[in-house]
Amino acid sequence: MSALGDEIRALIGQEGPISLERYMALALAHPTHGYYMNRDPFGAEGDFTTAPEISQMFGELIGLWAAEIWAAIGGPDPLRLIELGPGRGTLMSDALRAARVAPEFRAALDVCLIETSPALAAIQHDTLLTAGAPVAWAAQLEDAPDGPAVMIANEFLDALPIRQYVRGPRDWRERLVGLDGAGRLTFGLAAEPERSIKGPAEEGDVLEINALGHRLMFEIGARLARQGGAALFIDYGHTATGFGDTLQALRAHRMVDPLVDPGEADLTAHVDFAAMARSARAAGAAVYGPIDQGDFLKALGLEQRAQALSSRAAAAQAADIEAARLRLTGKGPGQMGALFKAMVVANRQLPVPPGFQALAGAAI
Ligand code: SAH
Repeated sequence: MSALGDEIRALIGQEGPISLERYMALALAHPTHGYYMNRDPFGAEGDFTTAPEISQMFGELIGLWAAEIWAAIGGPDPLRLIELGPGRGTLMSDALRAARVAPEFRAALDVCLIETSPALAAIQHDTLLTAGAPVAWAAQLEDAPDGPAVMIANEFLDALPIRQYVRGPRDWRERLVGLDGAGRLTFGLAAEPERSIKGPAEEGDVLEINALGHRLMFEIGARLARQGGAALFIDYGHTATGFGDTLQALRAHRMVDPLVDPGEADLTAHVDFAAMARSARAAGAAVYGPIDQGDFLKALGLEQRAQALSSRAAAAQAADIEAARLRLTGKGPGQMGALFKAMVVANRQLPVPPGFQALAGAAI
């Protein structure tokens, strides 16, 4: 058992079973032993690989996307370019480099990175040292400076802790983390039913609630409605709210048991985009999508960008570019194009954002 595992078992021994939300929050963000707190989890050596780590094209296209939003809202100076959960800082670094083609946009940028992990903030600092734009850090969005903003969140919402409720023969019960007879962490159910969940369901159905995500989407929707701008969310998840247990733990690119060695594996859950959209809309913002990541990137010109890069590259590099293009946009198994979705929350005055034109008129 990890050090954090021992700590969580002691906590449960004293206080009784804890919610999955609290368990995930401890496993990911415990100040000393939390998964994100003291490591670099990305890439071949790490536990998982994200789109910006696959290819520079991803961040570049998003940088140009941000420049188009900036132009559409009248080119405010400063523009707060806010990234939630920036990982290694790779996306932002690629975005700022691509933004060189729009010098006025680049000059207006005031970058703010929202990051809880000191270890990752240090890596972001090194990555962005020479990026040529002022960069500041905040632990939460409410500490970011006010004003018109473009926000970016890639694989952020899936890292927020969720609650799970399980439908029994008669009622819903919250899934809790407790101890078995041998003192090991195990899943169980709350003694009391959760009466606030309504609607038809079958025994065994699992409902996931991302309360932190809801709060954040409401905050973002309200901010963009008041101060202008747009927020881009890219993540894996489903377009319609449904039932299912999507909690997963990844370690060294393999699925592992989420209750074994907390703090040593990445814990995530699929994003319920419809639920997130409801909160942003309730706060007065428009929502576009979600659409498949593959369609979004193609609409932004990924294929042309890949061709341009390949034409200047050696054969081996050209093969890498082609592999990255396929991984980011392909819709088959092991590819990200359909598994991942893109969704935009925006001020209602904003025209249809780039990448979503195929949905024109379908702001929901
Ligand atoms: N966007 C990056 C990293 C995704 S991993 C990429 O695509 O490569 C999730 C990121 O969110 C990490 O940087 C993690 O430290 C950060 N994070 C997780 N929970 C957070 C929270 N509640 N507040 C701020 N950052 C958080």
